[in-house]
Amino acid sequence: MTETIIKAFRYAMDPTEAQVEILHRYATASRCGFNFALGMKVAVYGRWRRGRDQLIAQGMEKAEATRKAPKVRVPNRNRTQAYWRETRGQGFIGPLREGQEPKTPFAWWDGVNNRAYYTAFEDADTAWKNWLDSLAGRRPPMGFPRFKRRGATRESFRIVHSLKSPDIRFDGPRRLRIPGGGGQPAFTVRLHQPPRALTTLIASGQAVITSLTISRDGHRWHASVLARIEQDLPTRPTRRQQAAGRIGIDLGVKSALTLTDPLTLHAGQTPILTIDNPRLLANTARKLARAQRVMARRHVQGAAQQSNGYLEAKAKAAKLHAVLAARRASAQHVVTKRLVEQYAEIALESLNTQGMTRSAKGTADKPGRNVRQKAGLNKAVLDIGFGEINRQIEYKARWHAVTIARVPAFFPSSKTCHRCGWIDTGQTLADREFHCQACGMIMGRDANAAHNIKNHATPVRP
Ligand SMILES: [Zn+2]
Repeated sequence: MTETIIKAFRYAMDPTEAQVEILHRYATASRCGFNFALGMKVAVYGRWRRGRDQLIAQGMEKAEATRKAPKVRVPNRNRTQAYWRETRGQGFIGPLREGQEPKTPFAWWDGVNNRAYYTAFEDADTAWKNWLDSLAGRRPPMGFPRFKRRGATRESFRIVHSLKSPDIRFDGPRRLRIPGGGGQPAFTVRLHQPPRALTTLIASGQAVITSLTISRDGHRWHASVLARIEQDLPTRPTRRQQAAGRIGIDLGVKSALTLTDPLTLHAGQTPILTIDNPRLLANTARKLARAQRVMARRHVQGAAQQSNGYLEAKAKAAKLHAVLAARRASAQHVVTKRLVEQYAEIALESLNTQGMTRSAKGTADKPGRNVRQKAGLNKAVLDIGFGEINRQIEYKARWHAVTIARVPAFFPSSKTCHRCGWIDTGQTLADREFHCQACGMIMGRDANAAHNIKNHATPVRP
């Protein structure tokens, strides 16, 4: 059985100074392209609104005026693209206000591959559609699409791979070739690490590059290469997986993951039964909180330009955010990968865990109990990315023919003795140990819960 998946491969880049200039130019072009497309939409939409407001001014109800206002067609990507090709390089294309000089061709027209504009136009379509969907209630409420302001927007651009002339490719062991365009030649950027996993797949014909996104995170430029991968899926678990059988997992507070059976995280290391919240994370989180306090202190309300001290703290916070996200992601990926490699079946709690974060505070009439402990719980649970771990286990399970099993929602996994089934009704979250009053079993609360999950979970059909 094969499966086609789209996978992102992300690489830190080591561009030369001259190349950084080009990357800045592309990012600016992408931002301006987005604003160009959004500007066209906003202008047409404004025309429709003026028509509607006229009807309202004539005494029509708003709902009726909305229905009867002359229809307009908000330009989509194709029309934006056609208009852009027609007018590029012609200078200022809007009506001139009094005293305004016609600008000569925008700097961002030139020296950039057309495809970087097309994807920006596409992004404007998406932003517009998301807004319409939110108005129609198909998405959570959101504001009117915003123009991307210089300096306030993450520098980034995307180039879709052209299958006719495959010009995004790896050049040598660790160089990425970025196509030229707009009169500029293609160039190759050095990658910080060799992209071996992807180049191997490409060489064997299992992967095709579909697009390239380049963005700046703090001080670093990253390339994210999207590839379509054909992969063979095993139809059954390996013998070793089958011998290991089922593992039960409790996603909890004190330890991020508590397991019923040993897991080998790194070859040659002792198998483990608990995976703690990385200390690193707490440490970085503290630094981040400090940077954010400094930002708040140095922020001047209403100032056109914030102080250097503020900008410094802001850059620091952005960098810490990136570090935190990267460390968390890599830790999670290692754990979920090892789980699906080593076991044939993985037992988890029900996905209905949102109650954990919702109900702690209670209401004014009915205040929640143990609010403080639960607040701590919520934080730790969010720290390990409960949903993300579940998501990763679910998709990786298919790659190793692993069966997922879940216990029913509201199964009292931490209150039940896994050995005899006695239920402890008086237990609170503060009790770290489970003492069975019926059979005398004593075990860590989370470990007991993991065993219950292992014993009571039933396989879920994908
Ligand atoms: Zn018992």
